[in-house]
Amino acid sequence: MAKRDYYEILGINKSASAAEIKKAYRKMAIKYHPDKNPDDTTAEAKFKEAAEAYEVLSDDNKKARYDQYGHAAFEGGHGGGGFGGGGMNMEDIFSQFGDIFGGHFGGGFGGFGGGGQRQARVKGSNMRIRVKLTLEDIAKGVEKKVKVRRKVQADGVTYKTCTTCNGSGQVTRVTNTILGRMQTATTCNTCQGAGQSLDSKPKGSDANGLIVEEETVSIQIPAGVTEGVQLKVAGKGNEAPGKNSIPGDLLVLIEEIQHEKLKREGTNIHYDLYISLSEAVLGISKEVETVTGKVKIKIDAGTQSGKILRLKGKGLPSIERYGNGDFLIHINVWTPQELNKTQRKFFEDMQHDENFIPHPNASDKSFFEKVKDMFM
Ligand SMILES: [Zn+2]
Repeated sequence: MAKRDYYEILGINKSASAAEIKKAYRKMAIKYHPDKNPDDTTAEAKFKEAAEAYEVLSDDNKKARYDQYGHAAFEGGHGGGGFGGGGMNMEDIFSQFGDIFGGHFGGGFGGFGGGGQRQARVKGSNMRIRVKLTLEDIAKGVEKKVKVRRKVQADGVTYKTCTTCNGSGQVTRVTNTILGRMQTATTCNTCQGAGQSLDSKPKGSDANGLIVEEETVSIQIPAGVTEGVQLKVAGKGNEAPGKNSIPGDLLVLIEEIQHEKLKREGTNIHYDLYISLSEAVLGISKEVETVTGKVKIKIDAGTQSGKILRLKGKGLPSIERYGNGDFLIHINVWTPQELNKTQRKFFEDMQHDENFIPHPNASDKSFFEKVKDMFM
């Protein structure tokens, strides 16, 4: 795949000033920031692409080489660091350019600490769980308590500033290449970017001073969620080492348990009701179990099989809160499959009876017309 032009990526022209380049990158970075586009791989790719472009264009040396040679300036494994091949990784982007995002992403990455010393803020990893919900849960919203095993800082653990990187979480490496000296910042190996190292390690904790603890987390699930929706419980993922670290998030994937009798279609619910031939002929009252309780319905005498009764608003709420869907009852008339002598005689007598000969009128719409109506 051909690499896009760095100026094109940032939407600027070649005469752009350093300030314009920075401004353009900031705009892109905010637009495609992973916090704003969770689990969106396209946005992540664009975010990385913009960072790569900025890394080159914000550096006079690299910019000059790029202007002269294009992407070829950085190919061939000259230890360019971070770009050329697989692009930059997220960690590098945040540690190198975190400050460009300013206060936009509250407590995110790489803010400035006291005395101008850059302090790393490491975020713990996210954890993912699945939660299965019934249609009844989804109709009303529900609180689920789940047990998670998360890494937390052990009781009594202390950290000190990492001496390798002086707390910045990154080290600068200078490489001599045929194209000149290249300076790249990489994550500190001693502290893995935390900026701090373990000072006292309580018994039973791992090399980062963390232990695994079981915790019951309460998850508030709003009404109307759908299969595949992902909810976030902020701060309930794994903790990270270090004094200023922030815990990751708990990501909750919603799964829907198939209902035995009801079929969901968006916010509408469909239900197949079987009635007997005599019930269809004579009419009857029935009790139907919806997701929010029982509802009494009246079936008129002479009801045709295939009729759809609509209980307005008795479906599911929409997660965007624009009202409830409907509960749709599909009437199926059960034709007897065995008859005794008397019954057989009755139906034989009725075969040519005027009342038993179908003569549908406009109100007995075909199934397809009814379906069409339902979606209007
Ligand atoms: Zn370090």
